[in-house]
Amino acid sequence: MGAERKILGAIEAGGTKFVCAAAFAPDQIVKSATIPTTYPDETFSGVLSFFDSVATEHGGVASVGVASFGPIDIDIKSTSYGSILKTTKPGWAGASFLEALAPLRAPLLADTDVNGAGLGEATAGAGQGLRTIAYVTVGTGIGAGVIKNGVSQCGFTHYELGHIRPPHDQRRDPFTGCCSFHGDCLEGLASGPTIMDRWGANLSAFPPDHEAISLEAEYLSHLALNLILGHMPERIIFGGGVMKAPGLLARLRRETKILLSGYMDAGPLDGDLSDYIVPPMLGDLAGVTGAIALAQRALREGMRL
Ligand code: ZN
Repeated sequence: MGAERKILGAIEAGGTKFVCAAAFAPDQIVKSATIPTTYPDETFSGVLSFFDSVATEHGGVASVGVASFGPIDIDIKSTSYGSILKTTKPGWAGASFLEALAPLRAPLLADTDVNGAGLGEATAGAGQGLRTIAYVTVGTGIGAGVIKNGVSQCGFTHYELGHIRPPHDQRRDPFTGCCSFHGDCLEGLASGPTIMDRWGANLSAFPPDHEAISLEAEYLSHLALNLILGHMPERIIFGGGVMKAPGLLARLRRETKILLSGYMDAGPLDGDLSDYIVPPMLGDLAGVTGAIALAQRALREGMRL
């Protein structure tokens, strides 16, 4: 008889839906369900029902991983670890995954949705087999995470690289920027809503040689440069709805190469960066795959509720 395989619980908690899964490994999901994000009581009750049905079929989950919308406290030493912090989403400020999932009596690790997707890509997607990767999502907001040896990196809280301040040529781009804190930070200049405000359409409406694509690529190249200089990832994965615009990824590689100016022009940064700045591979499964990887780590490290 081989060792009994443990069933792992995973939740990708999004602003509109929770994707719950039970799996034996990040690429071995045996059951999943989607639960609408309404109010915490209702949503968590749906989550617990899902895991009840998992328990009937496969036994109770041995551990749980959560990749959640934020802001979420991911400092393991904090008393509010695993809780949603200040948010405008009605009812969710203070909602705690640890408390809500306590009936599962399983160790739990929680991380942000961006880190979760990055961990998923690092584990079973475009970053598989590499030691250090960066994952960026460009959509409603801009977020970036760094995954090193299967663990997302953070300081006293998660990184906020969407708010770096790229050069802003006001004559070329008179748009003032839409970040409520900084105006023309990267998120204020290059997120999906900004693009709609500036151009009246999303980037997929423009040909690859249009100014809209080059401006976006130039702004994002500063994030790529900062990730390279600060973390030296072996690969950077750029995902999110905005990145689907034809020609944007290729232009971003060119602009990043220009910013590097021949510095560090070797190893992974050699050539045209086509194997360095890449799209994600897992699509919609990235977050839940990362949550399974978090559950594996929770089990390994014996996290306690
Ligand atoms: Zn900002």
